[in-house]
Amino acid sequence: MLSGPSGAGKGSVITPVLAKFPTIHLALSATTRPKRSGESDGTHYFFKTDAEFDQLIQDDAFLEWCHVHKHRYGTLKNTVHTTIQTGHHSLIEIDTQGFKKVRQHCDPLSIFIAPPSLETLAERLTKRQTETPQDIESRLAVAKVELESQGDYAYTIINADLAEAQHQLTQILEKELI
Ligand code: 5GP
Repeated sequence: MLSGPSGAGKGSVITPVLAKFPTIHLALSATTRPKRSGESDGTHYFFKTDAEFDQLIQDDAFLEWCHVHKHRYGTLKNTVHTTIQTGHHSLIEIDTQGFKKVRQHCDPLSIFIAPPSLETLAERLTKRQTETPQDIESRLAVAKVELESQGDYAYTIINADLAEAQHQLTQILEKELI
């Protein structure tokens, strides 16, 4: 399980590292958040309407789901089960509330990716130009709360230097999974 505030650079750290670990599959979550430019359904998330998300809840399709940043995000049971049944490891990107829920049932490898500071996080969120100023404020407020939970994770990677953060993630995965 991997968590970290929005803008901590989770995607940039994970994507190139996962290319080196063919046995690890990133579990695609479902979300009601609107697509950002450059995102596509089935690649970044399964983008759902509110009604579709409600139906998935009713069908008991989620391992967990949470409200994050005014939208809903959930880990789909079938995505994780298919990965595990085929002998692979499932990497689940999840917010800190979702992590707490899952940890009540099992004890997964847990990694938290943190920004070097809240100031850096604010700069990154502003630079990527995918959120409104109000959304950035709300993401920073949530980030403060999320950073307080980093002690619950087995490993914390501070993403100050991207190559170093990728190196640390590689070392953790080599140690834990091989
Ligand atoms: P973003 O909108 O920036 O892609 O993601 C916002 C937040 O939602 C991040 O903290 C991310 O970890 C979290 N998130 C993504 N997928 C899931 C999920 O399936 N479940 C939960 N609980 N959080 C998720």
